Amino acid sequence: MKLFNFHTHNKSENYGIINIYPEENILFGKKYSCGLHPWHYSENYETALSQIELLAKEEKIIAVGETGFDPKSPVNIDMQSKIFVKHIEISEKYNLPLIIHCVKHYNELVKIKSQLKPENIWILHGFNGKIDIAKKLVEQGLYFSLSENILKDIKKADSLLEIIPTDTIFFETDDKDYNIETIYKFVAEKYSMTLSDLVKYIEINLKIMGI
Ligand SMILES: [Zn+2]
Repeated sequence: MKLFNFHTHNKSENYGIINIYPEENILFGKKYSCGLHPWHYSENYETALSQIELLAKEEKIIAVGETGFDPKSPVNIDMQSKIFVKHIEISEKYNLPLIIHCVKHYNELVKIKSQLKPENIWILHGFNGKIDIAKKLVEQGLYFSLSENILKDIKKADSLLEIIPTDTIFFETDDKDYNIETIYKFVAEKYSMTLSDLVKYIEINLKIMGI
């Protein structure tokens, strides 16, 4: 059974979305997302942004991102918001989903989403935040891509899976090389469904997103 890996940095992934940075090469037949990671933000973001837009225009990527907010970003929060909004503009212009990396600054994220009311789907990758934050993000219509990180606290993982609907969920390995089947199996059990039923849900979610 093929298990879709929604967000990975592993270039050899054959069934998933490979995250690349603007200057990286792409191979025919694979699915890519491209964005500026908040760790790589700088005042001179224009060149990278126009490269991302070109990839979107030429249909070489199927999603914009990962991009978003992080306290470890070298630029301040206003600049992070500005660069994030530029990514939203590309996502909206080319009708592509937006993959989000967000550490701590969920308020900014929610504020921008309610102000701009984007039409394309936003997916928060690697989410392992607090339960009340998860509730707020579900209300805002965000999708979630979960990694094995949630398995570190099983009790919290249970509550998280009670909140996140099956029609807004994906799974990923991110920059790790663990077996993605672990998280699929864990979630299938929590939702009291078989692995193949969960895979069907994920396939429907991907279709809705045009992937
Ligand atoms: Zn990543």
